[in-house]
Amino acid sequence: MISIFKKYVTSGVKHHYKDETNRRIMVVNLFSAVGVSITFFLGIRALLAQELPLAIILLTASVVFALSQRIQIQFGTRRSRTVSITLLISCLMILVFLLLVTGGKDNTGPLWIYLVPPVTMFFAGVVRGLLALLLFTIACTLLFFVFDESLLIASYSYAFKSRLLYSFLTVTFLSAFYEYSRQKSYDIALDLSEQFEQQANHDHLTKLVNRRGAQTALEREYARIQRSSNTFSIAIADIDRFKSINDTYGHEAGDEVLRKISRTFSARLRKQDILARWGGEEFMFIFPETSASEAANVLEALREVLSFAPIAISDHDMHITSSFGVCEITSQIPLADGIRHADMSLYRAKESGRNKVVVYSDR
Ligand code: GH3
Ligand code: MG
Ligand code: MG
Repeated sequence: MISIFKKYVTSGVKHHYKDETNRRIMVVNLFSAVGVSITFFLGIRALLAQELPLAIILLTASVVFALSQRIQIQFGTRRSRTVSITLLISCLMILVFLLLVTGGKDNTGPLWIYLVPPVTMFFAGVVRGLLALLLFTIACTLLFFVFDESLLIASYSYAFKSRLLYSFLTVTFLSAFYEYSRQKSYDIALDLSEQFEQQANHDHLTKLVNRRGAQTALEREYARIQRSSNTFSIAIADIDRFKSINDTYGHEAGDEVLRKISRTFSARLRKQDILARWGGEEFMFIFPETSASEAANVLEALREVLSFAPIAISDHDMHITSSFGVCEITSQIPLADGIRHADMSLYRAKESGRNKVVVYSDR
């Protein structure tokens, strides 16, 4: 029983939708179920009591509530959700309006008016909700005070009509305020979570993607080549004799060098390439759909730029070099092995005199 209920409430909910969208879908499901049941029950009662106009109104509303839920599920598009919500709100407003006109059972119809503001606000948001409620208020005011002779079937006292409208307006503004603060808090929470996500994947010093972000990008590329017969290349760069820069000019200067080098590197990469700070003074390059020799060409150019152009740090022009280990990743080898191979090539570049690009080979 509970699982059927849960299945019904979550029907149409999709993983990739925003939380807000899914919440709306669930509330539409819930609201239309409640709407269908109540209007159907009251409609049958009215039918049995031979109150034909009321019965027709209620049973029609019941069908429209059911329909609006079906539309949302059937098509599952943004437009169908808007249609579904518009239908729900209009149906509720028309139903309540007709209850005001007829008075419903023993003049209790107007009680349902308080359902309109919270439901409208939740589904339509503050701006569109206020607009819709304004139109509804105007319609009710005209019914009560202008067309009361010609349209109004039920009879209400002046005090009842005016107090009903005052209290309705009060609930409308409270609902608008509540919806506004709910939306604000939601936006703030969303913003914070995006900021945290950004911070968790980026390096504070160089603003590059950090090791965690690089690992995610590597896994994404690796998954991509499993589906195609492509390959991609990676490279690990390690600044040569970086410790001596720190020792000679201080840690601050070392940081500045890292910032400048990361800018030099990223300025010369293609849009699809990824540069990450892999560790202290190590960088990871990811070249999608690129062979090792193509990657080596790009890195060779980078190596030259870096070794010839001096970097100015605290009134000194420094010639800084870097060593690079390159490896082409295919779907046949595990990703971790590929990274290890790039590391081994880097080690060979260091061993054979630094300031070099070495491509991995198993010989
Ligand atoms: P090699 O050519 O063999 O790579 O020599 P190296 O001196 O670069 O190698 P080593 O790994 O011994 O030294 C790396 C240094 O990088 C040690 C560490 O203090 C420094 N380092 C790591 N991260 C940072 C950082 O964020 N800022 C600064 N200023 N220095 C860092
Ligand atoms: Mg190192
Ligand atoms: Mg180093």
